Amino acid sequence: MAAAKVVGLTGGIGSGKSAAARCFADLGVAVVDTDELSHALTAPGGRAMPLIVERFGAGFQRADGALDRQRMRELVFEQPEARKELEAILHPLILEDSLAQLAQVEGTYALLVVPLLFESQAYREVVDRSLLIDCDEEVQVARVMQRNGLSEPQVRSIMAAQMPRAVKRQLADDIIDNSGTLSELALQVEAKHRYYLSSLARARGQ
Ligand code: ADP
Repeated sequence: MAAAKVVGLTGGIGSGKSAAARCFADLGVAVVDTDELSHALTAPGGRAMPLIVERFGAGFQRADGALDRQRMRELVFEQPEARKELEAILHPLILEDSLAQLAQVEGTYALLVVPLLFESQAYREVVDRSLLIDCDEEVQVARVMQRNGLSEPQVRSIMAAQMPRAVKRQLADDIIDNSGTLSELALQVEAKHRYYLSSLARARGQ
C-alpha cells in the first residue's frame, strides 16, 4: 500500500493550529503533532533526557526523570548558545519520531502539525502540501492574551519575532481563515478534508 500523503499544518502563535487539528482528528484524520512529540521526548523516560543530562548536567532533570522546564527556560533565555544546543538534541529526534508515526498511518493522508514548517527545510521536504491557519492579527492577539495570561505588548513581541504573516500566506499551498467562530473553522476544515481526500488520493494513484 502506498504511503499516506502528508499535509503540514502551520501558523503563528494562537492562530488556531490546535483547534484546527482537533477538527481534522474529529473527521478521522491521523494527526501527528511535533509539539507533543517534543514534550514526550523530555517527559520521564523520554529519549532526549540522557542526552540533555549528558550535555547540561543532572540538575536539569527533575526527580521524576522529566526535564526541569523552568530551569531550562531560564538557561536558554540567558544563553542563546544553550538554546541552539538544546535544539540540536531535540530537533533530529522530533523529526525521527514524526517520520516513524507518519509511516504507521493508513489512509489517504495524515496531518503533521509543525509550528515552524516554513522555517525548516527538513519539514518542507516531508510534507506534500502546506496548510496555513491564518487569523486576523487583532483576534490573534486577544486569543493569546486570554489563553496565556500575557499582556498585549508581550504577545506582540512574540508575534514580531515570528515569520511575517504575509510571507507565510505566500508560501502556503492552502489557507484557512480562523478569525471567525469555531463552527466556521470546522466548516472550512471539512471543505479542505474533502479536497485532500480527492486530490491526494489521485496523486497517490499516479
Ligand atoms: P495555536 O495552537 O495555533 O497556538 P490554539 O488552537 O491553541 O492556537 O488557539 C489559541 C486560543 O484561541 C485557544 O485558547 C483556543 O481555544 C482559541 N481559539 C482558537 N480558535 C478559535 C475560534 N475560532 N473561536 C474562538 N476561540 C478560538
